Amino acid sequence: MGGIHVGYQGNERADQLAKEATLRPSLDILIPKPTSSLKRDIRTVLIDQWNDRWFLSSNGRQTYKYIPLVGLKLVTQIPQVVHFLTNHGRFQFYFFRFGLSNTQNCSCGAIGTADHYTLQCPLNLDLSRKLVYDTDNPATLIESKSNQLIIKEIVDKVDSIIHRI
Ligand SMILES: [Zn+2]
Repeated sequence: MGGIHVGYQGNERADQLAKEATLRPSLDILIPKPTSSLKRDIRTVLIDQWNDRWFLSSNGRQTYKYIPLVGLKLVTQIPQVVHFLTNHGRFQFYFFRFGLSNTQNCSCGAIGTADHYTLQCPLNLDLSRKLVYDTDNPATLIESKSNQLIIKEIVDKVDSIIHRI
């Protein structure tokens, strides 16, 4: 009798476990993954963490405006475009920051930041009016190759106008 009783309990327990298993969101079994897949998972986690830090950082916010997501893919083949948009380059605002110029103003009178030269300066209007992007989402500015080429023209123009230091 005892055996039957144990057997009954055993069946009941197995039924219970099977029932629980079907209610779980994932299986408990560890299936070995190939190295390539593990590397991809690790890379994804690292890039996610990198993006979290980038999102929360108080540094580099000018850069964040144009490059809100970081990753291993090149944003552009034209490095000057990113240098310029992130406020690094041959223009007044940058020179002034490092004490290389006594003015931070563009020759039009406004403060000569990268955003100014690229988007607002009346002296560059012939080029900047050709830019196609979403004004509410500055990151769209460098998404297209044609915009990158226009910005490169602006960079070259500003470079040719600004005094040699
Ligand atoms: Zn200007």
